[in-house]
Amino acid sequence: MKKIVMKFGGTSVGTGENIRRVADVVSQYAKDECKVAVVVSALAGVTNSLFEIACKAKKSEKHIETFTNELRQKHAEAISTAISSKQIQEEVSQITEENIAELEKVLTGICYVGELTPKSKDYVVSFGERLSAPIVWGAIKDHEIETQWFTGKDAGIVTDSNFGDADPLMNFTTHLIRERVAPLLEKGVVPVVTGFIAANQDGVVTTVGRGGSDYTATILGVALHVDEVWIWTDVDGIMTTDPKLVADARMLPQLSYQEAAEMAIFGAKAMHPRALGPVIKEEIPVRIRNVFNPTNEGTLITKESKAGTFEVVKAVAMIKDVAMLNVNGAGMVGAPGSYAKVFDVLGKNKINVMMISTAVSEANISMVIKRSLLGRAMSTLEIALLERGGIVSEVTAEDDVAVVAVMGANMKGTLGIASKIFAVVANAGINIRMIAQGSSELNISFVVKEKDGAAVVEAVHKEFNLDKI
Ligand code: ADP
Ligand code: ASP
Ligand code: MG
Repeated sequence: MKKIVMKFGGTSVGTGENIRRVADVVSQYAKDECKVAVVVSALAGVTNSLFEIACKAKKSEKHIETFTNELRQKHAEAISTAISSKQIQEEVSQITEENIAELEKVLTGICYVGELTPKSKDYVVSFGERLSAPIVWGAIKDHEIETQWFTGKDAGIVTDSNFGDADPLMNFTTHLIRERVAPLLEKGVVPVVTGFIAANQDGVVTTVGRGGSDYTATILGVALHVDEVWIWTDVDGIMTTDPKLVADARMLPQLSYQEAAEMAIFGAKAMHPRALGPVIKEEIPVRIRNVFNPTNEGTLITKESKAGTFEVVKAVAMIKDVAMLNVNGAGMVGAPGSYAKVFDVLGKNKINVMMISTAVSEANISMVIKRSLLGRAMSTLEIALLERGGIVSEVTAEDDVAVVAVMGANMKGTLGIASKIFAVVANAGINIRMIAQGSSELNISFVVKEKDGAAVVEAVHKEFNLDKI
């Protein structure tokens, strides 16, 4: 019998009705076809609201009660719609109540201390999944299926202590999951595990980055040695571009790990950028499927891209919420180690650089980073670099930009792709602020003003006939 990890994202469990649908899907497979382990995200919008209230609580107690009341209400509604058995409803309501009471205490604590550390932020946002998983568990139990729910920590997912963006200690995690979760799966019990949240070696709650339930699913998939990992979401699969941006985006039936990872890194929100890491080594296939259209097979991600996929450009994505940082200084010209100094400062301040471009003259480095990190990046660079012998004379930034990435494995070695892309952008009268092409040649990315991003994506999508087969 096949073993499958099924992950359900925030939109799939956005309402009680949708949770019911999730339970139907799980029970359909678990009843006769396969052994299923479930990973679940927080109800749509809840993680964002937890981040917001954590920041507000740092300043004042004022909003906490209204927030927790709304949260209680939202989950109560979901419980009553998703679960029909009164007894199970009560059981889940009690867990919900205990969780919300604990959250209230945590938020009040943050208010008293007046400090929000990455550690306490992770603790607050972990409540999204801690509240959703018991409801999904209850809805599955409602189908008279044996099931048990776990937090990521209880399931045995152990990470490093990089709060907000932690990575699993895979050997230890595998050991624990095999001990705690695998025996249940083998017996036909459906384990329901919270996505996104785990714990470090000391048992302190960590999270694996936004959209991290996908990552939890592949971690669990590897540890449980499953046949496939299915990521259920609200679109048919990985598409040629975000269907919310371009209406005639087309589903890609098959992608290689490398292509899918490239797309995830470059903003195809359908998957967490590091989620494929664990499954690549074990060659476990991943399938992206639509919970609202379960007859569709979705996108299958495997080691090789299937023969016959000859399109050169396969997809185009837009990454928003980024900023461009320019470091200028004649002192960098011909000075060995000057780039190293710039990246050393950023690295030490945990600022990830998403894209880099430099000119031969070496008087300028342009970088793309997350917009939320811009203030920290600029100030630390300015302090550190002006101090270090003045190799840098100026640090400037643009925070109204977006990255557009054009992707496809067959772009490698194909001539004229870049010229075609840039001609399309120029014809649309849009200025390009920065360009980068990695040596892998799997993608070409460039920076435009954010207001122009959607138009560029649409124009490139059309130029390469991505709406047609
Ligand atoms: P979930 O809540 O299931 O994790 P996400 O919102 O994280 O779902 O990801 C699904 C969304 O990703 C889709 O609704 C779609 O708008 C967006 N998206 C962006 N780019 C792509 C793409 N290339 N293919 C599919 N979906 C994409
Ligand atoms: N709830 C988390 C988030 O919103 C994780 C996830 O949805 O995958 O980022
Ligand atoms: Mg997601």
